[in-house]
Amino acid sequence: MTYVSETLRRLVAERAHHRCEYCKLPENDSYASFQIDHIIATKHGGKTTEANLCLSCANCNGHKGSDLASLDPRTEKITLLFNPRTDQWTNHFKMNGAYIEGLTSEGRATARLLQFNARIRLRVRELLLASGQWDAIE
Ligand SMILES: [Zn+2]
Repeated sequence: MTYVSETLRRLVAERAHHRCEYCKLPENDSYASFQIDHIIATKHGGKTTEANLCLSCANCNGHKGSDLASLDPRTEKITLLFNPRTDQWTNHFKMNGAYIEGLTSEGRATARLLQFNARIRLRVRELLLASGQWDAIE
């Protein structure tokens, strides 16, 4: 595991408004500590810099691992994963209630690979939405 300084860690978390940059789960509402993800893993030449780091919940980071791409479930063609530094979340995903729908190849591939809509994760979002703890995504 690559060392990320406390200063850089704080900057990444604040820049993300303490939400997972993939599934948008608020950090306060997670039982597990959020992690700093190398969007392009170091084994692929990714650097430990602001431009290649994002805040990720343990679920998203665990499912993403060092992957850069996956298959679009609709076309079965290889596509890059959503990149929180260069892509706009709302261009690739849409909330349907608690369900996160992929709108693009990148969105669909990322939603499936990172298992955004696994039953337990859907249930958590339903509870956050019902209790008013899920802020709109901009
Ligand atoms: Zn997440």
